[in-house]
Amino acid sequence: MNDHATMAGSKEDKNPTPPAQSKQNTMPLGSSTVSVHGGEARNKPNDAVTDSIVCSSTFTFEDSDSIIRFIENDEQREEYGRYGNPNERVVERKLAALDAGEDSIVFSSGMAAIVGLLMSKLSAGDEIVFFDQCYHRSREFCYKHLARFGVVTHQVPTGDFAAMEAAINDRTKLLVSESPTNPHLTCIDLEQFVALGKACEVETLIDATLATPFNIRPLDFGIDYVLHSATKYLGGHNDLLAGSITGSKEKLESIRNLRGIMGGINSPQNLYLLQRGLKTFALRMQRHNENGLAMAEFLSEHPRVEKVFYPGLPSHPTHDIAKATMSGFGGLVTFLVRDADWRQTANVVDRAKLARIGPSLGGVESLIEQPLVMSYYNQTPENRKKFGIPDNMIRMACGIENTQDLIDDLSQALDS
Ligand SMILES: *Cc1c(COP(=O)(O)O)cnc(C)c1O
Repeated sequence: MNDHATMAGSKEDKNPTPPAQSKQNTMPLGSSTVSVHGGEARNKPNDAVTDSIVCSSTFTFEDSDSIIRFIENDEQREEYGRYGNPNERVVERKLAALDAGEDSIVFSSGMAAIVGLLMSKLSAGDEIVFFDQCYHRSREFCYKHLARFGVVTHQVPTGDFAAMEAAINDRTKLLVSESPTNPHLTCIDLEQFVALGKACEVETLIDATLATPFNIRPLDFGIDYVLHSATKYLGGHNDLLAGSITGSKEKLESIRNLRGIMGGINSPQNLYLLQRGLKTFALRMQRHNENGLAMAEFLSEHPRVEKVFYPGLPSHPTHDIAKATMSGFGGLVTFLVRDADWRQTANVVDRAKLARIGPSLGGVESLIEQPLVMSYYNQTPENRKKFGIPDNMIRMACGIENTQDLIDDLSQALDS
């Protein structure tokens, strides 16, 4: 028997879940305790407190009989690095514990995770429906690449459940959404999303990268698959790429099998880095949430700001959904500069001294960018309009610096 701390649920979390996985420890523990101890063995080799990095691409057997025992009894041990390694197992158990899921699979990036899931679940003739504010590379994979394999994808306006229902037919296999979305931070009513999936007997996938398990746990609502780009808040230090899918063991089995073939696996070193980053996950999220909210409130009062997108503000169209279902709103804040063309907007970005200019979010270092320049530069003005990306939009990913320093920085960038 192992003694992994796989307990989940929290005294302080908004949506406490009965701990399902651990026979040993059935106490509901707080999210910071799960971040530190979740998924880890109590006793480690050499009496070490931390896990070692196991640098082995293959794993040996004592003799031929032990290989046969491994195959026939489905024994829990390592075999070959493409199928997993000890550093991966511990991170997978920790991520499963954080999302109160049964199992988790870690991929080499968030995109590898979503591609792995879609490729393992869909066949020619199947259809999927997704809300149109999903991550642009996920949508691109669907309409450009899944299409080549005969999978049909439908995009419907984000949050429009009537349109989603109308797009479902008896070939539909999966409903996909992000919550909150990027960069508009639209939150999806997960109860409604699950109800629609159940009524139509279609599985549901939520990309909860922006929310993280600290702010919402989609599995508690009955979502089938939760996807995270661990490159963002979970790793949290802008120093690694990884992705994960969490759900029931049974539903994840075919995804794990395909990953063993496609090989989108992390190195032990990278996984150790992710495990280390996860230890402070809950602590970091508290500060990201504080900084995001304070930044959003500051910007909404600023005369040079036309509009702020932040689900924690009452002015956000999905504030009520966010308030009812999330315990925090994250570090990402999107805003429009008043009466500014694209160059005047770029000037605000360029004047930031503390926040660095770059894509991504969720790391300890704050990052700022203008979506027009960073992600939509090659798109036509019509397409940008369709995606809701005006020239004067700025996306600020608040890190964990002191709140007032970040506000002072944006204040001087807007005022000068
Ligand atoms: C970054 C991101 C991804 C892709 O993850 P990578 O780790 O960069 O491959 C997917 N979804 C969302 C919401 C993201 O922010």
